Amino acid sequence: MRLEITPELAELRPSVRRFVTERLEPLAEEIDRTGRIPEEAWRLMRGQGWLGMLLPPEYGGGGTDLATYCLVMEEVARSHRVFTLLMDYTSGLTPVAIHRHGTEAQKRRWLRGLADGTLRAAFGLTEPEAGSDSAAIRTRAERVPGGGWRINGRKHWISGGHAADVVMVMAVTDPAKRARGGISAFLVERGTPGFEVTRVDTTIGSAAIELGELTFTDCVVPEEALLGAEGAGFAIAMGSLLNGRLGVAHACLGAADRLLEMSVAHAKRRVTFGKPLAERQAIQWMLADSETELQTARAFAYETLRRVTAGEEVGSAASICKLACSEMVGRVADRAVQIHGGMGLVRGFPVERFYRDIRHYRVGEGASEVQRMLIARDLLR
Ligand SMILES: Cc1cc2nc3c(=O)[nH]c(=O)nc-3n(C[C@H](O)[C@H](O)[C@H](O)COP(=O)(O)OP(=O)(O)OC[C@H]3O[C@@H](n4cnc5c(N)ncnc54)[C@H](O)[C@@H]3O)c2cc1C
Repeated sequence: MRLEITPELAELRPSVRRFVTERLEPLAEEIDRTGRIPEEAWRLMRGQGWLGMLLPPEYGGGGTDLATYCLVMEEVARSHRVFTLLMDYTSGLTPVAIHRHGTEAQKRRWLRGLADGTLRAAFGLTEPEAGSDSAAIRTRAERVPGGGWRINGRKHWISGGHAADVVMVMAVTDPAKRARGGISAFLVERGTPGFEVTRVDTTIGSAAIELGELTFTDCVVPEEALLGAEGAGFAIAMGSLLNGRLGVAHACLGAADRLLEMSVAHAKRRVTFGKPLAERQAIQWMLADSETELQTARAFAYETLRRVTAGEEVGSAASICKLACSEMVGRVADRAVQIHGGMGLVRGFPVERFYRDIRHYRVGEGASEVQRMLIARDLLR
């Protein structure tokens, strides 16, 4: 039995999967080998309407509902994590925050280009001294006499930050209030004097996923760079994370689905001691555990998505989804490596790539421990 997000979306899934398998999957190996995202990936995803899906059509977006977005997220995640990022860069934290909180001028300036991927956005919250404890950021923005803001500070590990045309930068504007109305969000354009990319990092995942260190030294931005009200930045940043957590959960479901599919195929194919691995109980139990965990995580994620789509307040359910799905894919990937033996560890085989790429999900967009804190806070309220 295969659970579906909705009966209508069940009909959409085969065509999405076919396109991913036939057109995107051939690029996956190249992305991993070269550490570059080919223009072809952007072009193909743009052609399918998979960029800017969550932005409204009047700003060049797809006007797609969250459920369809999550279905596509699952399917592209079956191929390569980079494809999920292209969806995220064009419909993720910063574009959605601009759409929700921006002035008409800010929306007109950025959304169309962000929606079709010709402009790139990044989300600048994390700093060397403030990761999980994001309210502890030190980047400071002070009013400039005569108008505008002067920003000083350093952000690091900002996905795509080194190549972004615009970065949503969270900075302290009132040190006495900090997260309670003392942090503001600014849209800082590439090329603004005082804004420099001072380092680019990569992770154990694909080298095509690069993280910028962004340094602001007396970087003066105009009044119009402020996104939303002064002091609303922390709430804006946290509000953007709901879709982000659901997106990550669905990317994990897609990756786990592919890992399990590869594990089943390998177990049937590979013969040891005269019998296929699939006939060994030790292997069957690994497959059964992965299937059980995937199905239960999927059921909860789909139910949460249904509630969010219906406009219900879901409390900590998005955190439960993110925690359950990211921990689940970690275990499924680990078993997949074990079932594949050396083929699970050698560069160039997909399982090895997935194993590296999915590790990020337990840390990014709120690590597992942070999700547990949020879930417990909800319980103990
Ligand atoms: C690939 C990648 C992409 C990223 N992209 C972005 C981006 O685009 N924008 C952005 O702003 N940031 C980004 N980040 C940063 C990311 O959000 C942080 O790495 C994450 O929030 C964790 O912060 P930290 O790394 O400083 O870990 P820390 O906060 O130092 O935590 C270290 C460990 O301790 C745990 N921990 C922390 N506090 C507690 C506690 N109170 N109780 C128990 N355990 C605790 C954490 O869960 C973690 O396991 C990215 C990071 C990576 C790796």
